[in-house]
Amino acid sequence: MYLEVKDLCFRYKNAKEDTLKNISFSLSEGSILGVLGDSGSGKSTILRVIAGLEKPYSGYVKVNSNLFCSDKVFVQPEKRDIGMVFQDYALFPHMTVKKNIVFGVKDKSKKEYILKEMLDLVNLNGFENRYTYELSGGQQQRVALARSLARKPSILLLDEPFSSLDASLQEKIRNELNEILRASKITAVFVSHNIVDVKAISDYILICRDGMVVDFYKNI
Ligand code: ADP
Ligand code: MG
Repeated sequence: MYLEVKDLCFRYKNAKEDTLKNISFSLSEGSILGVLGDSGSGKSTILRVIAGLEKPYSGYVKVNSNLFCSDKVFVQPEKRDIGMVFQDYALFPHMTVKKNIVFGVKDKSKKEYILKEMLDLVNLNGFENRYTYELSGGQQQRVALARSLARKPSILLLDEPFSSLDASLQEKIRNELNEILRASKITAVFVSHNIVDVKAISDYILICRDGMVVDFYKNI
């Protein structure tokens, strides 16, 4: 399996009980997993552990056979080659679309090529010199996606990517996100408290409750 999460247990400092309780699941390459659960059920924490922003006290995470954390191993987040899209996009407001997108591309000789590829992918040709505050919410989200994908991450993690958008836009943006993820063939884990979003985008669905996996099934 491309992503393997096994028996993760994690507790925040000063918390009275474990936030993650033996979380296990796996995902094949190119698949999209939707993690669904109520607020506080541990969804964001699962992503944070995969990304290396938190360290579990037991269990392991592997991506493409690379062990990222276990009782003996801890790979720093910047070495994990993971893309993350947050709820608020965290774009750089003082940079243009172009600068935002190529921000994490290390190989300078590839910047122009990757920029073109990403603008095509997220359908933002002609917007490259705008500042992010000159964009709609949906366009900003596409810039955030392009910025994450430009670094060619091994896996993409998305935390509630729709929640700061207008309800009337959500269906359109959901469809756009689905198309972009499919076109990029990325393996992705996407978190939401909204079953409609999860049903629309995921190949597999994991239901999280109170820090535990209560169900995992193929979305048909
Ligand atoms: P979700 O994303 O499903 O809403 P989270 O993973 O953010 O849930 O949070 C799971 C639980 O961990 C909640 O009870 C939350 O209050 C707690 N929690 C989240 N972040 C921290 C933190 N930095 N310190 C202590 N507790 C936290
Ligand atoms: Mg959350």
